[in-house]
Amino acid sequence: MKQSNRFFCGIDFGGTAAKIGIVDEKGNLTATERVEISAGDGYDDIFGEVAKKIRSLCGKLGVSLEAIGIGSPGFIDRSEGRVLQGSENLPVFKNRSLVKNLSDDFALPVFADNDANCAAAGELKFGVGAGYESFVMITLGAGVGGALVLEGRVFRGTRGLAGEIGHICLDPQGPFCTCGSRGCFEQYASASAIERSYLEKCGKRATGPVGPTGAEPVTAEVVFQRAREGDGCAIEAVRETAQHIARVFGNLVNVFNPEACIIGGGISAAGEELLEPVTQYIADFAWPLPLSGVKIHTAALQNEAGILGAAAQCLERLDL
Ligand SMILES: [Zn+2]
Repeated sequence: MKQSNRFFCGIDFGGTAAKIGIVDEKGNLTATERVEISAGDGYDDIFGEVAKKIRSLCGKLGVSLEAIGIGSPGFIDRSEGRVLQGSENLPVFKNRSLVKNLSDDFALPVFADNDANCAAAGELKFGVGAGYESFVMITLGAGVGGALVLEGRVFRGTRGLAGEIGHICLDPQGPFCTCGSRGCFEQYASASAIERSYLEKCGKRATGPVGPTGAEPVTAEVVFQRAREGDGCAIEAVRETAQHIARVFGNLVNVFNPEACIIGGGISAAGEELLEPVTQYIADFAWPLPLSGVKIHTAALQNEAGILGAAAQCLERLDL
């Protein structure tokens, strides 16, 4: 096998830590580091620590980098990498550029994008999206993210704010959403929405402990597990979730005529449990012609998808 010779750094910012990894052009994650972030940490301190860890990783591996990619929650301006909104867990980043310090420090191309766009870049370069020119992707976890890949590129919109599939309105009278609107897709497909749906159906609205041993909190994972075991309420909750996903995918298929729809994020670990009903219901919402040939996948990148996606955006943006 040809030795890979291009290396990229992927940085995945979360509320409490930055996960850093060195990734080669094939998507092999060769080493990782972590910078803990506390509430009082300043912007320069965080990036100073991150830079130190990047240098130590590169030193240890004996590699030099081609570019650095950063993934973060929130709306990120595509030209300056500035966090415009939605970084409540990382307030120190608000209105600051995520790329400036590192690009000054390393004199390399540095890119930043929101985590869902990075997830799509990850699938495009290293995952199930690799064979496609176009796909729509949703990431299901604590929130619901979305991204569009069109003509081989992540479609970012005029300012980099495109792809907010999680806030497509499914019901103007529906539950209130964190974004201020009502009935957003996120309110029907996030981990907590799946948990809520299950608890409502089994009549245990109180957040009392349930689950196989009678002592587990209900998580989305437990709901999928119980559906597999034949629990009627769980089967119903999964079915409804799949219908909401199919409705959103179906509409996007009609709008964008993509080759594939990809489900990522933690919930995608449910695999077939989710794929099968989504594939079944999507025909209720998409026209037959644009739907014909569309493949529905769960994401290939699971562990460390954040780091891999952040790094993959370098390849995507540099056309490598
Ligand atoms: Zn919303």
